[in-house]
Amino acid sequence: MKLNLTKSKALYKAAEKLMPGGVNSPVRSFNAVAGSPVFVAKAKGACIYDEDGNKYIDYMSSWGPLILGHADADVVRAVKKAAELGTSYGAPCRNEIELAKHVIKSVPSVEMVRMTSSGTEATMSAVRLARAFTGRDYIIKFEGCYHGHADYLLVKAGSGATTFGTPSSPGVPKAFADRTLLATYNDLASVEELFGNYPDRIAAIILEPVAANMGVVLPEEGFLEGLRRIASENGALLIFDEVITGFRMSHGGAQKAFDVIPDITCLGKIIGGGLPVGAFGGRRDIMNMVAPSGPMYQAGTLSGNPLAMAAGLATLHKLAGRGNYQRLRKLTQMMVTGIAGIIEELGIRARINSVESMFTVFFTDEEPKDYRSVLKSDTKMYSKFFENLLRAGIMFPPSQFEAVFLSLAHTEKDVDRTLDAVRKSLSAL
Ligand SMILES: *Cc1c(COP(=O)(O)O)cnc(C)c1O
Repeated sequence: MKLNLTKSKALYKAAEKLMPGGVNSPVRSFNAVAGSPVFVAKAKGACIYDEDGNKYIDYMSSWGPLILGHADADVVRAVKKAAELGTSYGAPCRNEIELAKHVIKSVPSVEMVRMTSSGTEATMSAVRLARAFTGRDYIIKFEGCYHGHADYLLVKAGSGATTFGTPSSPGVPKAFADRTLLATYNDLASVEELFGNYPDRIAAIILEPVAANMGVVLPEEGFLEGLRRIASENGALLIFDEVITGFRMSHGGAQKAFDVIPDITCLGKIIGGGLPVGAFGGRRDIMNMVAPSGPMYQAGTLSGNPLAMAAGLATLHKLAGRGNYQRLRKLTQMMVTGIAGIIEELGIRARINSVESMFTVFFTDEEPKDYRSVLKSDTKMYSKFFENLLRAGIMFPPSQFEAVFLSLAHTEKDVDRTLDAVRKSLSAL
């Protein structure tokens, strides 16, 4: 099937003159799959409609936030209602309390929370907080984990940074990057070694409790528990970056699902319901370090924005409804089992990592369990797979190193249609 992208291509040409790479966030450019990006005109439920009138079943879900699907009626109503009452006050409002309450009630480690406008701000602030609280400078991050684009976190980062082969970016002073120690995901010995080399100097271990920015990589049995123990033994804080896993792995995030409780948790994506939100929270004694309670400065003109709070609250309330996580899990299982069957039948070298409502098909025959192993994937093959799917009206993420996200707007019929397209797409490789 041929896809008419005339208008998208013309818009991209115009955009390239006005914005670096024609986009406001790198992965959107479709560079990783050698394509020209689809310009979206509108989206509803599980579907995206482009400027040329093509319709796609969307599995990017805006990179994770849209667990209810696009333009959910309740979320749209809440945002409209909030907008009528003013779009920003620069003063506190009731819904900030309501969202804080919901987050604190749901996420075990969070006793107090601070809202931000993005996940990047949440992780950046959480690291500053850990340094302020411990009086130490160094942090440990894992190769392939992505925590937004703050300087000292942009070292061997996943997501777009992996896709574009610029794991550490120019413009990050070496002195900043030097304070970031790199460990290997699923390898506790690599973490122990760093604590051995830098005794009493490491403020925190930060990680995605399920990595989703090098494609989905699950923590092996005992990994999270081991990190919890090592951090405590060494007087360092454990930071879970749950910007993706928060309210996706379960309503209490990955920490609830795996029963490992960090000191600080970063949130974003789903808690904003598609509007710009991030948050960090944790133990009361730690959070009391944050200004104006304490000396660690952190602020935001639009933090706790009333529209964003309304969208987040509407999303979390609806998501908390009975049976939703089971439904998401069942749909995802149906999809993953289907794809695994097709892969086996066609004898394709690929592995699928999946958990709850997210998964990645890696084109490799080595088990994807850390950054080194996922990088063995055949990205050219992924690129063809992606393009074939797109032509069949299925939008997977435009990079091997990202997660496919299902939402409550997806139906069994969508999954059936997608599996048909996957079969054709993989057969044509
Ligand atoms: C998306 C993401 C971030 C950054 O959030 P932004 O809102 O894009 O700044 C941080 N951490 C993880 C795990 C993410 O997936």
